[in-house]
Amino acid sequence: QAKQQGRATYRFYTQALHDQSVERVQLERLLRHALERNEFELYYQPQVDLCDGRIIGCEALIRWNHPGMGQVSPARFIPIAEQSGLIIDIGNWVMKQACHQAKRWHDQGWDIKVSFNVSARQFMRSGELMQSLRDALAESGVDPTRMEVELTESLLLDPQGMGEILHEIRALGIQLALDDFGTGYSSLSYLRRFPISILKIDRSFVSAADNNADDAEMVKTIIGMAHNLRMSLIAEGIETNAQRDMLETQGCEVGQGYHYSCPVPATEFSLLLQQGIR
Ligand code: C2E
Ligand code: MG
Ligand code: MG
Ligand code: MG
Repeated sequence: QAKQQGRATYRFYTQALHDQSVERVQLERLLRHALERNEFELYYQPQVDLCDGRIIGCEALIRWNHPGMGQVSPARFIPIAEQSGLIIDIGNWVMKQACHQAKRWHDQGWDIKVSFNVSARQFMRSGELMQSLRDALAESGVDPTRMEVELTESLLLDPQGMGEILHEIRALGIQLALDDFGTGYSSLSYLRRFPISILKIDRSFVSAADNNADDAEMVKTIIGMAHNLRMSLIAEGIETNAQRDMLETQGCEVGQGYHYSCPVPATEFSLLLQQGIR
């Protein structure tokens, strides 16, 4: 009985694994043509001054519009792009697109910064990453100090290699933000050896903080220590007024989240800039 059950469970899991890998292979195949078929689009989510509600910048977030499948979430395809190496070309497209769009907004008189995500695989090919960043800046003519690279904490586990490339990126003028902060292992004092000027407090703390005293205390500690290190803060995933109020009270200066706006296409973001939020 037990043995039979075991076998059935085993068959169930291998079938599920098989389905998963078939899906992966299919997605990867479609992903290979997505760039040339122009199926990617950047959406932009506003980053808002928590005091006065002004839009001070935005994060560029990739969307894949597939004719048959509709919009595929980055949570689904970015891991596949990373494992297959496709993230290099996709990432280069993202930075070019983000730089050109930022330049357009600046030319229209909007004083905003634009951040974009760079994945571990891109950092591993550091020579190519630097060249792509230089190209994107030169081709677009954007002011590099208004551009921001978002990286995740796990990358900092290799301090030697990362320190060097992060300093090179900083030397271009681009600012560095640590994404999803609080979910990894790095202590704030450890962060001092890297030229990172912005911490993005992970959504999990923000959403828990207005009903959980421990999380609220944690957020307070992160904000206090970041300020001691002269870093600025962005709270991710603000969904409610209570969360916004709590973060402002604790001294967080900037927020991002559905409470203000979900990520939107560039034309809609232009409208947000004109009309303001709310
Ligand atoms: P991330 O960089 O941490 O981006 C924030 C994610 O949280 C976005 O999901 C955003 O839509 C979502 N979000 C924003 N506000 C709220 C909120 O109030 N509530 C909730 N529940 N979610 C909120 P998205 O766009 O689906 O992207 C997911 C992840 O995919 C990103 O997380 C990032 O790691 C990755 N990603 C997206 N675009 C790119 C890209 O161009 N390159 C790379 N390498 N990764 C990307
Ligand atoms: Mg990000
Ligand atoms: Mg994030
Ligand atoms: Mg995140």
